[in-house]
Amino acid sequence: MIDLHCHSTYSDGMLTPQALLEKAEAAGLKMIALTDHDTVAGLDFIASAGLKFNGQIIPGIEISTRFAKHDIHILGLNIQKDCSAMVELIAEQKDKRMSRSLKIADCLSALGIQNAWDKAVAIAGHERVSRPHFARVLMDEEKVKDMKAAFKRFLGRGKPAYVPTEWVSISDAVATIIAAGGDAVIAHPLKYALTQTKLVALITTFKEAGGVGMEVVSGETSPSEADAMAMLCERFNLFASSGSDYHGEGMSRISLGRQRRLPLVCKPIWAQWA
Ligand code: AMP
Ligand code: MN
Ligand code: MN
Ligand code: MN
Repeated sequence: MIDLHCHSTYSDGMLTPQALLEKAEAAGLKMIALTDHDTVAGLDFIASAGLKFNGQIIPGIEISTRFAKHDIHILGLNIQKDCSAMVELIAEQKDKRMSRSLKIADCLSALGIQNAWDKAVAIAGHERVSRPHFARVLMDEEKVKDMKAAFKRFLGRGKPAYVPTEWVSISDAVATIIAAGGDAVIAHPLKYALTQTKLVALITTFKEAGGVGMEVVSGETSPSEADAMAMLCERFNLFASSGSDYHGEGMSRISLGRQRRLPLVCKPIWAQWA
């Protein structure tokens, strides 16, 4: 089993990198990529604490990009995390995330939820606040019953506390991943609710920038969805990736490494890393 997409407490996951690696080891994973949102701080921690894993740790990142008014996530896998272009992109994204978070807090304040920024930072334990942290504030204040409702009523695209963000472009994200020696992969292509035409436009832009892979299986992907994504990979000559997008028990229905297997026609992206 392998898992090339998961999150730690350094972004919006519930487990520390250490707990995540312990869980991966207990589950018998032979390869895991930590792919926190717009940060490699969890990988820095793994290195500095000298954490051990009985398998291969693939350094990764999930970069937020903006494409045709959608937030599209691009995974950088097998990256050199200290590459200067990557360090610069991360700093840029951190600023964008910070100003967005303050605007989200303003929106929530206008809706009667005070000090949401401080509360979200307290929950996150860092300032790289993601929308799930604001969702947890809304749950704590009993404005919504769960995470799903928080996105549906407040934080999701087009809702009252949604703040459009000029994340880096797909081409900048892909170029930076390439500069860092990594492979760029489109994360969860079915999560964006794109028409087939827009999905093809996204893949075309991504390919032109030098992207090489797409997640065929991500979290709860069904067999028919995986088959459809596998066909797109064939058509565009992309490698296939596979990950749980695990954020913690209760936050993800598919546990670490428990996503289904890739369809047999796929070319697994990790096969070329050996
Ligand atoms: P952000 O990077 O702040 O835009 O937050 C994006 C994260 O929010 C994603 O990585 C998911 O973890 C989470 N998320 C996005 N949409 C939903 C949703 N509808 N329900 C629950 N969590 C969501
Ligand atoms: Mn997330
Ligand atoms: Mn994502
Ligand atoms: Mn993710």
